[in-house]
Amino acid sequence: MECDEPLRQPIHGGRPRRFCGDSCRKKHEARRRRSDVMEALTGPPSWPVILPEVELPLEALNLPSDPDEAVVAVVRDTKADVGRLAVCGSRARGRLAWRCAKASEEIGSVLARYFPTRAALQDTSEPGGQP
Ligand SMILES: [Zn+2]
Repeated sequence: MECDEPLRQPIHGGRPRRFCGDSCRKKHEARRRRSDVMEALTGPPSWPVILPEVELPLEALNLPSDPDEAVVAVVRDTKADVGRLAVCGSRARGRLAWRCAKASEEIGSVLARYFPTRAALQDTSEPGGQP
């Protein structure tokens, strides 16, 4: 039973009642949805994590076979994902919203540092950056 209240069960059989009413049922469904989401978020990534030292053709990772082109593909995808994460955050519920906002902000700024846009490159020459 999901409900803390004592429930009157149907006398003549049938499915046992689990909730005292509609709002009670909705509350429990929402709780379960939240815990499903947290379980998925704390679980393994959807792609298996592949160690860089493992010799695997880039095509096996769904990437162009040319390593430089593969970098371009991954960086562009990641930039797009940063945007998607920000959009999701603006629609997500409570405690997911700020996580999405912060994560997209931080990943975005790390990406911008190492893979600046053309406009940013023309704007400033990296002070104290890698040669
Ligand atoms: Zn109830």
